[in-house]
Amino acid sequence: MYGLTVIIIGAGIGGLTAGIALQQAGYSVQIFEKTQQLRPAGAGISLWSNGIKVLNRLGLGDQVAEIGGLMNRMEYRTHRDELLNGVPLQSLVEQVGQRPYPVARTDLQQMLLEAVGKEQVTLGATCVGVQQDEKSATAYFADGTTATGDLVIAADGIRSTIRDYVVGGSVTPRYAGYVNWNGLVEADLSFQDQNTWVIYVGEGKRASWMPVGGDRFYFFFGTRMPQGRNLYPDDLRQELGYYFQGWASPVQRLIQNLDPSQTNRLEIADLDPLDCWVRGRVVLLGDAAHASTPTLGQGGCQAMEDVEMLCRCLVTTNLSVEDALQRYEMARNARTASLTLKARNRTDTIYNKDPAQTQAWYEQLKQEKPEDVINAIAKIILGGPLG
Ligand SMILES: Cc1cc2nc3c(=O)[nH]c(=O)nc-3n(C[C@H](O)[C@H](O)[C@H](O)COP(=O)(O)OP(=O)(O)OC[C@H]3O[C@@H](n4cnc5c(N)ncnc54)[C@H](O)[C@@H]3O)c2cc1C
Repeated sequence: MYGLTVIIIGAGIGGLTAGIALQQAGYSVQIFEKTQQLRPAGAGISLWSNGIKVLNRLGLGDQVAEIGGLMNRMEYRTHRDELLNGVPLQSLVEQVGQRPYPVARTDLQQMLLEAVGKEQVTLGATCVGVQQDEKSATAYFADGTTATGDLVIAADGIRSTIRDYVVGGSVTPRYAGYVNWNGLVEADLSFQDQNTWVIYVGEGKRASWMPVGGDRFYFFFGTRMPQGRNLYPDDLRQELGYYFQGWASPVQRLIQNLDPSQTNRLEIADLDPLDCWVRGRVVLLGDAAHASTPTLGQGGCQAMEDVEMLCRCLVTTNLSVEDALQRYEMARNARTASLTLKARNRTDTIYNKDPAQTQAWYEQLKQEKPEDVINAIAKIILGGPLG
């Protein structure tokens, strides 16, 4: 289809990437974002090769390589610092044809924003609803303004305002049972190899860091916790010290050196897979459609795959906008549902939902061959629209 005007709600990874792709396809794009200042939730993100391939297609390959960390190896260690498993990542790169890049979220957002053009993004615009007729769809904003186009893309995240309209019922995110702390630190903490993604596991918890561009590490911690609990609301370092007491000295060094005011604390949630992502000319994309727990590191990558497929369906078919959106949903729904459930299962294993299962996983990590770990990651990557 030619000459479409596309209204995008949300300037996160999904909305901005969609804006770039649809502009490149020759469409007119307007993006509306509720925050006054773009501030991504979370400090870093690991973009696996399937996400990077989408960025390559959009001409952003060199730029993402500049902001990305050189992650050459993955290492699982016990919380007492015994090596469980070391996995060189070169064979993954050879198998899938592209290196993954962990990046700082602000760098990623800046890169995407520049690529789409700041003038395409209206900040401080909170979408409160949508309506449509046979020819157009209109987004309504809290300040009384409206925006009308041929279609509206709801890329408004896990707590999407538009989703209930699309699915015709109320959808509530599900607490995944654990808290995640994350942030960035300078790479001078004498962690092991600066190009290694290190994951400490033990007691049903996790502490980890991976290199991002600019000589920094993206770190995260996670532990199971009832929703709403916070033992040390005024002292994040004390809270981490409590949950990771007795863990290996690099973990203690990280806790001492992180900046609590720049560390995020998130109760992680996901969505049960949805059958329906499309209503006429209004379509869900990214977390609005399929938020998953971050234990596979695929949420942002799946939003990028959505963009690739949505754009492909709009550009290559010409029956109607509604028809193209249905094709997109059909092409994406099963893959994202299966990854959401896989991530949920992995979350339960990592975070001690059933302690026997978590212990069995620690044993498995000890015995697993590096090529089996690589093959499992490659299978996920190669299942995407760009192979
Ligand atoms: C701790 C953590 C770690 C993660 N790690 C990874 C990883 O390593 N790799 C990976 O691929 N994924 C990861 N993810 C998942 C990834 O962050 C998400 O899948 C991704 O951000 C989804 O992008 P999105 O654009 O769909 O939604 P969001 O990033 O949530 O963006 C939605 C945007 O819409 C805006 N908005 C919301 N409501 C409205 C409204 N009514 N009107 C206007 N604007 C609105 C919001 O302000 C926001 O800017 C992680 C997630 C978490 C929580």
